Amino acid sequence: MKPIGRRAVLRQILPAAAVPLLGGIALPACAQTAKIADADRAVGAALRQAMIAADMKTFPVGGVLLHNATGAVLHAIPNRVMGRLPDGKTATRDPTAHGERQLVSWYYENKRRLDLPEPGELTVITSLDPCIMCAGALLAAGFHVGVGAFDSWVGVNYRQDCQFQTLPPTLAERARNRFGYYQAGDSRADPPLYVRPYQGTPTLPFHDSRISPETYMGCGALFTAGLSAVNAAKGNDGGPPDTLSDPYYLPENSRIKTIYREIYPDAFTLKVPGWRQTRTPDRAVLQALDRVGGSNAVAFIDPFGNVVLCLGEEDGIDTALLRVTRAYAERRFSLREQDRDYPPDQWSTRYLTQPGYGAFVYRDAPDPQDARTILSFGAYGSTMAGPIPAGYERNFLYYRLRGGVSQADIDKTIAALPPFYTQTVKMELVHISS
Ligand SMILES: [Zn+2]
Repeated sequence: MKPIGRRAVLRQILPAAAVPLLGGIALPACAQTAKIADADRAVGAALRQAMIAADMKTFPVGGVLLHNATGAVLHAIPNRVMGRLPDGKTATRDPTAHGERQLVSWYYENKRRLDLPEPGELTVITSLDPCIMCAGALLAAGFHVGVGAFDSWVGVNYRQDCQFQTLPPTLAERARNRFGYYQAGDSRADPPLYVRPYQGTPTLPFHDSRISPETYMGCGALFTAGLSAVNAAKGNDGGPPDTLSDPYYLPENSRIKTIYREIYPDAFTLKVPGWRQTRTPDRAVLQALDRVGGSNAVAFIDPFGNVVLCLGEEDGIDTALLRVTRAYAERRFSLREQDRDYPPDQWSTRYLTQPGYGAFVYRDAPDPQDARTILSFGAYGSTMAGPIPAGYERNFLYYRLRGGVSQADIDKTIAALPPFYTQTVKMELVHISS
């Protein structure tokens, strides 16, 4: 049993936290009133978030954060990767805004203020098997994870055997002790398509109850159907560099330079021309990364060789890579939202493009045994979102090897990732040799 004080705190959280903390997104009614007591209601609550995501023309996946002991829903959130622009089309707003990753971030942002229970006492329920980014975030935090449908291309359990050979051994072991895939349907009554046996840890809340065929099929079929709707709604996500102008030559008070300097004061001051041909940015970028300090740092270089961002690691799951890709995307999206208020020669779409044409550069090779590295590798994959544009490969780089990390470890870790990362993105992390 939980100490009485903690339960009193949870009673306070529900009415107070559920509505205002959602940033305008309506919680399902169950989150504000009922407590969840079985797998079907838990996955059903995540599915309702996925339906909200589908309605927003973003990837139809959703998640809820549950308190194991009481079944209270602490937070619920849909995927928010795609955002709508004033022209009615959608564009990438934040490639890392998957439901599960956002729930982990929400937890760290509110843990102290709301006196939230430790992650081991909580479960993230998701409508679809987590991608590598979300799996890394969930493992780094230590939540239990209950899953609706499988994802045979991007999911951490894409082999559907619950062995997690997509992860380094120590993290796979942790996932086997934390993740579960609920039993679906009834093998005596339902057609085989709608039936799945339970897979995963026996410690997952509601592992002994099952989800209905409707909930199970809903999670998977909604995702499949929603992908084509996402593509149909999507506008131009950024053209090739030869259609753009170099933002380096914009006035110092231009809106593009100003918005990036809010987070990285030296944005667009360092230029490494010629790096695109060799994919070896010179030591000036390493010096910028060293100036950031901290346990590691990541820079984003645009196709013109401008260092747009250079940020360090922070607490929780805010790795340098996650911070950089979010900051680039969110600011670019917010510029695009306001482009039409400015003359065409100031439109952000003339200067900034999708990050696949640029490069993400680590100061130090990250340790593949660390869940935060898996999260970062996944965030890079989500940022690419598909094949790297032809001729722009080698856009994921590092300067230094240290702390017992080897290129062979990195290559092996990447080679084990689900097919999206190895076959679609064709991800590789390359050493910059001086
Ligand atoms: Zn994800």
